[in-house]
Amino acid sequence: METISAGQIERWLRRCAEVFAAHKDELTALDAAIGDGDHGANMRRGFEAVLAAVDDLSAKNLGESLKGVGTTLVMKVGGASGPLYGTLFMGLGKDLPAEPTRADLVRAFRGAITAVQARGKSERGQKTMLDVLIPVAEKLEAGVAETGAITLAAHAAADATIPVKAVRGRASFLGDRSIGHMDPGARSSALMIEAVAKVLEKA
Ligand code: ADP
Ligand code: MG
Repeated sequence: METISAGQIERWLRRCAEVFAAHKDELTALDAAIGDGDHGANMRRGFEAVLAAVDDLSAKNLGESLKGVGTTLVMKVGGASGPLYGTLFMGLGKDLPAEPTRADLVRAFRGAITAVQARGKSERGQKTMLDVLIPVAEKLEAGVAETGAITLAAHAAADATIPVKAVRGRASFLGDRSIGHMDPGARSSALMIEAVAKVLEKA
C-alpha cells in the first residue's frame, strides 16, 4: 500500500455495501450467539445508507467524505457498533490532507482507533472490533505493505477472539459463556479490512 485515492475510497465503500449484504446472515448468527442478533442487519443498513449517499460523499474531499461516512453510520447503524464505527470513520477523515501519504493514512488510522477506544472505554483483548483494528494498525506501522498479509492478519485476529472472554459490549453480560464464539464486530472489521485490501490490490 502506497496511499489511497478518492476513487479507491469510493470503490471501498461500494464493496463494503456488497460485503455486508452478502455476510448479513453470518454476522447475525455470530451476534445471536453472544449478543442480540442484530449486527448483520445493523451493518447492512449502515452501508446501504452509505451506498445511497456515495456520489454526494465522494464529491467532497477525502477527509470530508470519510467524516460523512462516519456520520451516516452513527445515524443508521445504531446499537453499540454504530457510534463506534462512526467514530472510526470520522477519526479517519479528521486532519487528513487531500492527497495523503501512506504515513498520513497510518497515522489517521491509529488516531481513529484511539478515538474508538475513548468512546468505547475499551482496549485490546476484550473481544471487540479493537482486537482486529489494533493488530492491523500495528502491521501497517511496522511497514507491512502487502495487502494479502494485511487481510490474513485481520482474519487471524478475528479468529483469535474465539477463545477470549468478552469484557465490553453486550457479550460481556454472558461472562464465561461468551468464550468459544467469534466476536461479531471483530468479524465485520476483518471484512472491512479485506474490502479495502482488495481495492488497493487492483490499483
Ligand atoms: P449491540 O451490541 O448494541 O447490539 P452490534 O451488535 O451492532 O451492537 O455490535 C456489537 C459489536 O460492537 C461487538 O461485537 C463489538 O465488536 C463491538 N463493541 C461493543 N461494545 C464495544 C466497546 N465498548 N468497544 C469496542 N467495541 C465494542
Ligand atoms: Mg447486537
